[in-house]
Formats: sequence, structure tokens, C-alpha cells
Amino acid sequence: MSKDRRDFLKLSALGVGAISGGLGLAACADETKLSETVKRAKGKPVVISTWNHGIPANAAAWEILKAGGSSLDAIEMGARVVESDPEVRTVGKGGYPDREGKVTLDACIMAPDSNCGSVAFLQEIENPISVARKVMEETPHIMMVGNGALEFALEQGFERTNLLTDAAKKDWQDWLKTSEYRPKINIENHDTIGLLALDADGNLSGGCTTSGAAWKLHGRVGDSPIIGAGLFLDNEVGAACATGLGEAVVRVAGSAMVVEMMRMGLNPTEACKRVVERIYEKHKDVKDLQVGFIALDKAGNYGGYSVHPGFNYAICNENGNNRMEDAKNMLAKN
Ligand code: ASP
Repeated sequence: MSKDRRDFLKLSALGVGAISGGLGLAACADETKLSETVKRAKGKPVVISTWNHGIPANAAAWEILKAGGSSLDAIEMGARVVESDPEVRTVGKGGYPDREGKVTLDACIMAPDSNCGSVAFLQEIENPISVARKVMEETPHIMMVGNGALEFALEQGFERTNLLTDAAKKDWQDWLKTSEYRPKINIENHDTIGLLALDADGNLSGGCTTSGAAWKLHGRVGDSPIIGAGLFLDNEVGAACATGLGEAVVRVAGSAMVVEMMRMGLNPTEACKRVVERIYEKHKDVKDLQVGFIALDKAGNYGGYSVHPGFNYAICNENGNNRMEDAKNMLAKN
């Protein structure tokens, strides 16, 4: 058994409470490994987003950040670009429907003051991230779902849109021929966009938006709109968001756990790694399980980690250098 693996088991057995209760990271972290995995900050601002569609999302967010705008505005604008792109099959308009042919969207947003808003099982609205922001800013609530969320959106001036494009409909009709559902999550049937940003004032915000698992049961909601699972931040520490099999992320309060790992001193990559390993341990029976996290700390250090190879993220810092990086992962040597 490798030292890493022993350390991970020790960490799992102790539990986070025990660690934060005074054992400290020296008991569970390999310091050499930590320094190897840290992706150093190159000043502020910074925006990081999951998958290839993170590039246009970051570009839109960067326009706001470079002008000194807030991380919250940057997150909303970045997410909207991907939600409105009909070519993206996993987010917003053009997203794959559930098994009944309905496109149902989940999104959440979180601000530096820990205020947050969320919508789930929302239909016919192209930009759920903006509805989530309205829930945060215009109501005393955090989460609205289904028809209630739709009615709220319409009251707020959002317009009904047909989200099911011809291309997504055709893929759904092809899927109906076999109706085979396996929770395999990688590039072909998932890819939530999660975005984390640190603005010039040093404030963190985050957002997460998705059409969820393709061909899911009608009414299914994953991790993405759940604060603490699909997205979490603490402006004193850092921010994290998730992609992959949502049910697995919810079971460990994934993004909240990544932030807590950073609070205890792990760098963003290492914090993501610990939570991915925990998820993997608890889901040994799930074939082809894929889960990935990205994280950004208060200093602008960032990283990502997944179970399988293939997960990447877009990072934009250093005066707008917007590029893709591969996340480290459990199942390949890297
Ligand atoms: N996490 C999302 C969900 O389970 C899917 C994804 O990341 O693509 O709904």
C-alpha cells in the first residue's frame, strides 16, 4: 500500500472533525506532494471553469474582471454564455433532455458574503444562473424548484424558450431505441459548467449550471444546484465546484468538503484529491464512476482533480491568459 493511500485511509478514518479538532495537517498530508501539486497564483483576478466550454465562459467573465468588476457579475456572465450556446449538450439551451424528452435545468450561484441562490428542475428558461441570482437577491429564500421557480422567473421578466433543439431531440430519439441508462459520466453525456472567480478586490464567487444527467428520470436533480455539493465557497478560504455523477458528490457534501480541506491547509489540487478519493472509496460498486472538482483559494492558487483521466478546466489569469489544463486524476499516473 502506498504512503498516499495509507494517509488517505488514515484521514478517512479520523474524519474531518477530528482533524480540525487539533491533529493538524502534519498528520495527514505529504508536504512534498503538496508543493508539487500547487498551481501558483499569478495575481488577481482569476477565473477557472470546468471543461472546454470554460474557455468562452472565462472570456466573458474576464471582460468584467479586468475592468475591476465583481466576481459575482463575472460568474453570472460567464455562465450565461454557455447556457445560451445551443451547441453545448450539457448546459442550458441545447442540453440533453430527460428520458421523457424534457430539458430540465439546475443552477446555483454563491456570493462572497455567503449569500446564495439556486433553482432546480426548471424548464423553458434559457439562463437559470440568472434566475438563481434573482432568488438570492429578490427573495428571502435560497432554493426554488419546478413550476414555482418557473413562475418566479416569469414574474421577474424571464421569457419562455424552447430548450430542446433539433439535434438534442434527435439524440434523445436515438437513445429511446435502447433506453439504456448507465451512470457513466465523462465527455459524452454530461459536463456541467462550474465557475469560480476571484476579483481584483480579492472577493470570491462561484456558479454552477447544468442540464444534468442525460436521459435522467423526470424530476431528478443532481448535485449542481445544491449549495455545498455542486458548489461552495467561504470568502476567507476558497471556492470549489463539482462535475460528474451528482449523486456521488451529494453523498459527501463534495464542494463544501473541498473548501474545508483548504481551510485546514491543503492546496486546491490536494483538497480536490482528498474528496475524490473519499468518493471513490464509497462508490467502488459504480462502474466507470467519474467525478471531478476544481478549486480556487483566496490567494488565487487553483487546481482540479478527478477519478478518471479526461477531465480538464479552463483557467484565466495573468492578464487574460485563458487556456486549458488537464486535471490530475486517480486512475492514471500523473
Ligand atoms: N453533476 C451533474 C449532475 O449530476 C452532471 C455533470 O457534471 O455533468 O447533474
